[in-house]
Amino acid sequence: MKPGYIADIGLEVHAELQTKSKMFCDCPVVDLLETPPNTAVCPICGGIPGSLPVVNAQAVAYALRVALSLDCTIAETSRFARKNYFYPDLPKGYQISQYEFPLAEHGILPVHTDQGWMQVRIRRVHLEEDTAKLTHIQEESGASYSLIDLNRAGIPLLEIVSEPDMHSVDQVRAYTHALRTLLQYLAVNSGDLERGVIRFEANVSVRPAESIKLGTRVEIKNLNSFKTMTAAIDYELDRQTALLASGGRVAQQTLGWDESLNVTHAQRSKEEAHDYRYFPEPDLPPLIIHPEQVELERALLPERPDRRIQRFMADLGLNYYQAEVLTKEKAVADYFEATLTYMTKPDALLAANWIIGELFGLIKAHNQTIAEILISATSLAALLGQIQNESINNATAKTIMTEMFRSGAAPEEIIRDQGLTQISDREVLLEVIETVLAAHPQELDAFRAGKTSLKTWFFGQVMQHTGGQANPAVVQDLLEQKLTEIQS
Ligand code: ADP
Ligand code: ZN
Ligand code: MG
Repeated sequence: MKPGYIADIGLEVHAELQTKSKMFCDCPVVDLLETPPNTAVCPICGGIPGSLPVVNAQAVAYALRVALSLDCTIAETSRFARKNYFYPDLPKGYQISQYEFPLAEHGILPVHTDQGWMQVRIRRVHLEEDTAKLTHIQEESGASYSLIDLNRAGIPLLEIVSEPDMHSVDQVRAYTHALRTLLQYLAVNSGDLERGVIRFEANVSVRPAESIKLGTRVEIKNLNSFKTMTAAIDYELDRQTALLASGGRVAQQTLGWDESLNVTHAQRSKEEAHDYRYFPEPDLPPLIIHPEQVELERALLPERPDRRIQRFMADLGLNYYQAEVLTKEKAVADYFEATLTYMTKPDALLAANWIIGELFGLIKAHNQTIAEILISATSLAALLGQIQNESINNATAKTIMTEMFRSGAAPEEIIRDQGLTQISDREVLLEVIETVLAAHPQELDAFRAGKTSLKTWFFGQVMQHTGGQANPAVVQDLLEQKLTEIQS
């Protein structure tokens, strides 16, 4: 992007609501990769004339959850509308969506970037249905055709439309990640972009830095990963600023992203709302949301991830990085907080360091999730207690944690069975030090002659001699005394 311009970016995020059944029929919502095509279809989602849609209450509840978490205003009455267009993935010839009267409006999502916190305003949140999935096949013989899977047709979709409040690709990345985390927290969407459960459309414009009027935007359709989304926006920012700098004008249009060439290409000149001939869906009554239902859903909301991050920082003394990695997954944040409540002397930094460092390492190495691991929050709290009262040192604690991870055994059991208690007894350790020194007369001579760096080497030898169980602070102290005696 050329200097001297400001980028304005607004996003339309389509998130599948992973309810049991589809938006307007009782076909199951299935995993498209694992289910044979066209096995979850009925006359309603198959678009057979005369079939009648019924609104899925669970989808409405999920949508409310998201809208309320985004601090939106919920419309007491919203309306479904028909968005008419022809495309092979749309058997009815129209998509049931919400248009003039969306479920919710005027929300906000706080987002963290390298520059600190920013607020992205949410324009609207509305319910609609997904289309079928097309797969285009190009055979080596030259034949080409498309396959259609109606299992996706009619899956509830939530469209979340932001204001054009983002001004860089970093901000877009932060916003979309925050939104995905939120959807996962609310347990309405797996966040698994590779399975297409969240898809983006980016509206991008640029303007001279001194102008307050937004530039002409393009809309880039069908961006299905963070990578393609950011690449496409980057490309557009370069293209548009170069165009303006050379005296040209940006044409308002809808673009696609070509993944092999890494360029955007025009799909059509910007469609207008009237091209879709929107009209109220005659087969569905207005959607009425009672205030009691809103309050019920509000009461059930989990703490929003950004609030949890701020609480972990303010109340528990974590830094942003620690708070962020611990809250990215709700289950991890819950585990961390449970560990603290089970600790006799709660120490948030100690717990955070062990979870982020050692435990995440084990989880990653074994390709597990926090829900699957055998170390309960109680056991972790017990292990941290052993470190706090110095029964074991850090090196031993790591060994024990690995064993806990493998077998699920309690730390006290492992310490007892393997005799791993830390040795802090000064007399015992002094004896070990004397044995080690006596066993290395050459090194001792070198030390006497001035090679003081051998101090660390002796320390290592003593630790090794005790199988890593010596209290390092005590060894340090005793060794220091002993070597000073020897020098004088
Ligand atoms: P539609 O795409 O259906 O016409 P809107 O006109 O409401 O709907 O805009 C959709 C998206 O475009 C919103 O996310 C909005 O923030 C964004 N947008 C609107 N104007 C601009 C602009 N000048 N530059 C960048 N994004 C914009
Ligand atoms: Zn169906
Ligand atoms: Mg649009």
